[in-house]
Amino acid sequence: MEPRQQTFSIWYFLAALVGLLLLQSVLFRPHAEDLTYSDFKTLLGKGKVVEVTLDRQAITGMVTADGLEAVLPKEKIEGLERYGKGAHRFVTARVDDPSLVPALEAAKVKFTGRVENTWLSTLLSWVLPAVVFVGVWSLLMRRMNPTGGLMSIGKSRAKVYVEKSTGVTFDDVAGIDEARAELVELVDFLKSPDRYRRLGGRIPKGALLVGPPGTGKTLLAKAVAGEAGVPFFSLSGSDFVEMFVGVGAARVRDLFEQAQAKAPTIIFIDELDALGKARGVGPVVGGHDEREQTLNQLLAEMDGFDTEKGVIILAATNRPEILDPALLRPGRFDRQIVIDRPDLKGREKILAVHTRGVTLAPSVDLGLIAARTAGFVGADLANLVNEAALGAARGGKATVEMEDFDAAIDRIVGGLERKSRVISPREKEIVAYHEAGHALVAESRPHADRVAKISIIPRGVAALGYTQQQPTEDRYLMTRAELLDRLDVLLGGRVAEEIVFGDVSTGAQDDLQKATDLVRHMVTRYGMSETLGLAALEGPRHPLFLQVPGASAREYSERTAAAIDDEVQVLLQAAHDRARETLTARRSALEALGKLLIDREVVDGENVRRLIAAHDPARESADNLACSDDGPTT
Ligand code: ADP
Ligand code: MG
Ligand code: ZN
Repeated sequence: MEPRQQTFSIWYFLAALVGLLLLQSVLFRPHAEDLTYSDFKTLLGKGKVVEVTLDRQAITGMVTADGLEAVLPKEKIEGLERYGKGAHRFVTARVDDPSLVPALEAAKVKFTGRVENTWLSTLLSWVLPAVVFVGVWSLLMRRMNPTGGLMSIGKSRAKVYVEKSTGVTFDDVAGIDEARAELVELVDFLKSPDRYRRLGGRIPKGALLVGPPGTGKTLLAKAVAGEAGVPFFSLSGSDFVEMFVGVGAARVRDLFEQAQAKAPTIIFIDELDALGKARGVGPVVGGHDEREQTLNQLLAEMDGFDTEKGVIILAATNRPEILDPALLRPGRFDRQIVIDRPDLKGREKILAVHTRGVTLAPSVDLGLIAARTAGFVGADLANLVNEAALGAARGGKATVEMEDFDAAIDRIVGGLERKSRVISPREKEIVAYHEAGHALVAESRPHADRVAKISIIPRGVAALGYTQQQPTEDRYLMTRAELLDRLDVLLGGRVAEEIVFGDVSTGAQDDLQKATDLVRHMVTRYGMSETLGLAALEGPRHPLFLQVPGASAREYSERTAAAIDDEVQVLLQAAHDRARETLTARRSALEALGKLLIDREVVDGENVRRLIAAHDPARESADNLACSDDGPTT
């Protein structure tokens, strides 16, 4: 698009006005006087003036030829315009002379005033300030947004990248191979849609890149632009958000029109959350009409075009949880591509990409640097390499050495620690054994879900690590045995810390909260406690507004409350003991899994099971004849 052409020709308009002004002053300016005023008065006195027209600045009129000859030299008269028989037209500047009119009357000269034609100047005095104002305003608008002008307000500001113009290729993106593969496939859809449609499949309309800041979402999108070989419309969610209602919606419409005209194309909306925040939340006052309209327009456009036309929409966000659910529905962003913080190998690969242009000393071991930078994202690593190179240059070195990287890591870690994104080696160890404990207990219980993945890469502020379990089927009911196994798994992390370190950390807080809630529900709602029996002591929570003030929220006695508390303690303690028994029996597996986690940071379920099999407790404990039974204990 050519934004220049669309800017309203305000400047032409201005130029035309100024031109008119000049013209007017030329046209209507009185001619330089032919006569001096005194000559005019003399002629008037001699009765040589025939007629006179007075206006504010000049006196024009007719004077007899012989009269004129008396006051002007011959050549001058030649130059004057002849006007009628023996009379000359003259012009003289008007001076402030109160005796003029009496003199005219005395000479019996026919005289008249002239009503000046002032419409143009009046008009200008109104219009010009307005025009100047609008001009300045549109100039300011353009300052704020270099491509838009006054009339391009409803135009999308998508930058169109075509083919390799971003200079980024898939080679520049490292360590996030799965996401990369998905995008490569998406590009392939665009290039040869028929291959995929052959069997009746529908080409996805859009993909949403989700991941923490700095993990390379924007970079990946740029790489797609570089590799796809189709026009690539790139813009940020905040580009749509304007102060005028309806502008954002108009931009969305315009964007899709442009994109469809150039299909096959890719539209990339970065920072989608700026525009796609869930509707109807937040303060009611004032509302968010503009954003809602824009979002509705986007939804409508996404529904409106079909992928037959070859438009794929990519978007990126680091806050998928605040997105409007309508955006995530199938048929819109049907695919979500999760980009997580890179693991050890990924970090090493990213470091390799960013050190391509850096002169490294042979001592530099990228694997070691990767090991020291748990929790770093791609942007942090790029920053790290740059800091190290700058540090080495400052020290006047010929190459970047390991110590430069060490210094840079220390500096960056200091900054990140405050954002609690980096954990110390000691913490990493604790988290590793904690998660290993969860995983081992889960794998030792018949009713617990299988372990899908363990990770000790910190995520967000709260979770330092996580063990992901894969339910084998959808569950609507859970048996007591299943709940007890789940309880054991929850306590496994805490117990592992006890066993390995002889001490416990605050890391189990969330686990304990969940375990306590679970036990409490078992006792008070599900009738699963032998001592308290079948009575449902607590129903589902009533909404607050239904509660009568003063009425007790509790429907049981103090004695029962104390009994509930006791029973919760008993069940928790029992679960703790069971988990402890399991992990003690599998101590060597626990140690091995912990070490593996420290080493790799991410371990998948297959490897967990393989490792457990290698450290079979039956085989190990055969010596001390203490074969422990890992079956469900009740
Ligand atoms: P996001 O959009 O996810 O917040 P960016 O794509 O803007 O992150 O990444 C910022 C910078 O970090 C990139 O320009 C690149 O230099 C670096 N970077 C991030 N992730 C990677 C990666 N996977 N491989 C290589 N460089 C990366
Ligand atoms: Mg980004
Ligand atoms: Zn835990």
